[in-house]
Amino acid sequence: MMRQYELVERVQKYDPTADEALLNRAYVYAMRAHGNQKRASGAPYFSHPLEVAAILTDLKLDDATIVTALLHDVIEDTDATRAEIDQLFGPEIGALVDGLTKIKRLDLVSKKAEQAENFRKLLIAISSDIRVLLVKLADRLHNMRTLEHMKPESRKRVSEETLEIYAPLAGRMGMQALRDELEEHAFRWLNPEAYQTVTEKLHELRERNEGLVEEIEAALHKMLDDVGMKVEVSGREKKPYSVWSKMANKQISMEQLSDIYAFRVIVDTIDDCYRVLGVAHQTWRTVPGRFKDYISTPKQNNYQSIHTTVVGPRHQRVELQIRTRDMHSVAEYGVAAHALYKDARKVNGNGANGGSANGALSKSLVFTDKESGPYQWLRRLVETLLEGSNPEEFLEHTKLELFQDQVFCFTPKGRLIALPRGATPLDFAYAVHTDVGNAAVSAYVNGRHVPIDTRLRNGDEVEIKTSKTHTPPAAWESLVVTGRARSAIRRAARDAIRRQYAELGRRLLMSAFERIGESYSDERVKKVLPRLAHKSLDDLLAAVARNEVATEDVLRAVAPELAATARQAQQRVDEPSKAKGWLRLTRAATNKLRLGGASSSESDPPAARVRGIPIRGVKNDMPVLFEAGGAVPGDRIVGVLAPGEGIRVFQIHSPRLQEFEHERWIDVAWDVDPENPERFPALISVTAPNRPGTLAEIANVIGQSGGNIDNLKMLRRASDFTELRIGLEVWDLAHLNQIINGLKAKAVVSKVERVFE
Ligand code: MN
Repeated sequence: MMRQYELVERVQKYDPTADEALLNRAYVYAMRAHGNQKRASGAPYFSHPLEVAAILTDLKLDDATIVTALLHDVIEDTDATRAEIDQLFGPEIGALVDGLTKIKRLDLVSKKAEQAENFRKLLIAISSDIRVLLVKLADRLHNMRTLEHMKPESRKRVSEETLEIYAPLAGRMGMQALRDELEEHAFRWLNPEAYQTVTEKLHELRERNEGLVEEIEAALHKMLDDVGMKVEVSGREKKPYSVWSKMANKQISMEQLSDIYAFRVIVDTIDDCYRVLGVAHQTWRTVPGRFKDYISTPKQNNYQSIHTTVVGPRHQRVELQIRTRDMHSVAEYGVAAHALYKDARKVNGNGANGGSANGALSKSLVFTDKESGPYQWLRRLVETLLEGSNPEEFLEHTKLELFQDQVFCFTPKGRLIALPRGATPLDFAYAVHTDVGNAAVSAYVNGRHVPIDTRLRNGDEVEIKTSKTHTPPAAWESLVVTGRARSAIRRAARDAIRRQYAELGRRLLMSAFERIGESYSDERVKKVLPRLAHKSLDDLLAAVARNEVATEDVLRAVAPELAATARQAQQRVDEPSKAKGWLRLTRAATNKLRLGGASSSESDPPAARVRGIPIRGVKNDMPVLFEAGGAVPGDRIVGVLAPGEGIRVFQIHSPRLQEFEHERWIDVAWDVDPENPERFPALISVTAPNRPGTLAEIANVIGQSGGNIDNLKMLRRASDFTELRIGLEVWDLAHLNQIINGLKAKAVVSKVERVFE
C-alpha cells in the first residue's frame, strides 16, 4: 500500500504548490474512517481509495481531486457525513465527494442497451463537475483491475455496466487509453474464450509486424511533406475488444479484418482531406470497396471523415481516416466537444485577466504528454483557458452543463425517462404512456406525495397514481412542458366534451321516447342515421344536445306513426300548470341523496312521471353548468338547454330562470353518487357590522361546518354595515342550511340569506 508521504510526493512532483496538509489530513481521515473494512480480496479497504488517488496522480490532477479520490467512498460506506467533510475539507471537496456518493447510489446496472446513452447523460448531469467523473472513472478502473476477487455473477454485472456506461463515457471524454483498459477488463470477464483467441492472434500479428506502425507513420509524413503538407498522423493497433466487436458486428473472421492497423491523418481544411486522399491513393494500392466519404455524407451522429484502406509498405492492409481538426474533436468527444469547446471559446472571448496563473489547478492540468496523448482535450481546454482569460474561471467552465436542458427520472421499476427541464410529474406520466397521462390523478416523487405540477429533478423516482374514471381537465395543459403531454391533454378534453354531448343527447332522446311510451335504444337510432344526415351515432346525439336536431325529428325518423303522439305529449308537458309538477326530484334520485329532511314529500312524483336527465355533479358525464347562485342536492332544479354550452342548471327560485321561456326548460333530477360525494356551489349573503374580527368569525363558522369558501365579495351598503356575498361549496341542502343557521347564531351577524344574484 502506498505510504502517506509517497502520495504527497507524487502530487508535489507535478504540482509543487499542492496543499500538503490537506492531502495528509485526507489520507489519515479516510484510513481511519474505513478502519478494519476489507475488500473482497482481503486487502484493507483503504487500499482502494488510495489506488484510485494514485491513478489520478498519473493524470496529474489537482489536490482537490486527489483528496476527493481518497474520500470517495466514506459517506456511503462509513459513518462520515457530508457536513463533516465540508467542515474538515471545505465545501468544494464536500460537493465533489457528494457527487460521487450520488452516483454510487444510482443503480445503473443491467439497463437495456438503448438506455445506456441516457444513463451516461444522467451521470454527467449529476456530476456537474468534471472532476467527479474523473474520480468515478478511476474508481471504476481500479474495481475492474481487481475484479477477479468478486463472485462470477458480480463480475458479469459490473463488466456489462462498464462496457455499456463507463467505457463509452471515457471515450466521450477523450480518454482513449482509459477506455481501452476498461474495455479490455470487461471483455476478459464477459467472454474469456474470445478474449484469449483475439489477444493471441493480435500478439502473433504484432510479432510478425514489428515496427510497422512507426514505418507507416514515417511513410505518411514523408509523402505528405513532399507535397508541402503539414499534417498530424497517429497510428495504433486495434485493441482486442474493438477487434472483437468489429468481428461480431460484421460476422467476419480475424483474417478478414483489414483494419487492425488504423491511422488518422488530421489536417486543417476539408480541401486538405481530399489532397491527402489523392496522395495516399497515388502512392499505395487501394483496396476496392473500402472507400467511404463521410465528409460529403456525414453519419447520423454527425461523424465526418474520409475512410479508405490501402495496401501499405509491408503488404499489410492499413485503414486511413482523414479528417479536419474540428471533425476529429467531434469524433473523439461527441457531444462534449461542442459544449466544452463552445465554453472555451466563450471564456477566451472575455479576454480579461490574462495570464494570472492560478497555482495548483492550472499547472496540474497542463499535461506534458506527447501531442497525441489521451488527455489532449483536457489539455487543450486548459491551454485555451490559460491563453487569454482568467484561469480561476476554469472550474466554472469545466462544469458540465451539457445536459442542463434535460432531467432524468425513473419509474418505480427503474425505467429511465428523459424529460426537458421544467417537466412535471404530468409530463412524466405522458412520457411513460398516453394512457397513464390521461388517467393520472396524483404523483409521488421519491415516495412523497407532491402536487402534480412539481418540477422534477435529476434522479427523481416518480410514481403516478391513476384512476380509470379520470379525464384530464383542459386547464392541465398549462401544467406541462412537453408537446406530447400538451396535445394529449387537448385531445382528451375534446373527447370528453364530445362524450358529454353525446350522453346529453342520448338522455334527451330517452326522455322523449319514454314520454310516448317507447323505449330508446342506440340501435334503433343508428338505423335511421342516413335519414337524419349524420354519419355516426355520437355525431347525431351531440347534435341533439346542441339543439341542432329536434328530438321530435329523431322520433319521426325512428317511428313515423308515433310522431303525432310525440307532438301531443310535448304540448301537454309544456302547459305551465303541468310544468310545475315535473320540476322535482324523482324518487329514485332522492333515495340516492344523503339528505336528512331535504326531500319534501309534498312533491313526490307520481309513478308514471318521466324521469329527468340525471345531474351527477359539477364534473358530470354531460356538459353541466351551474348558474349564478348555484344549486345543491335537495334543491328543486330546472335545466335549460343552452346551445354550445350544455345544460344550465337553475335552482327553481333563481330569478334568472324566468328569463327563459318554458319551452326551453328541461326535466332534470339529482343523481348524486353517495360513494363519490362532490361539493356544489351555493351563494349566501351575510350582513354584519364593520368591526375587526367579524370576517374571521364568519369564516370560522363556515370552516368548522366543513364548508369551502370559493369566493367572497364585500358590498358596502351602509357606513357601519357590510354585506358579504360568499360563494360556498357544500355537499347538499342540509349542509348549506347548517352553515346558514350557524351564522345566524353568531352575535356579529345581523342577517344571513341564500341568494341567487
Ligand atoms: Mn470506490
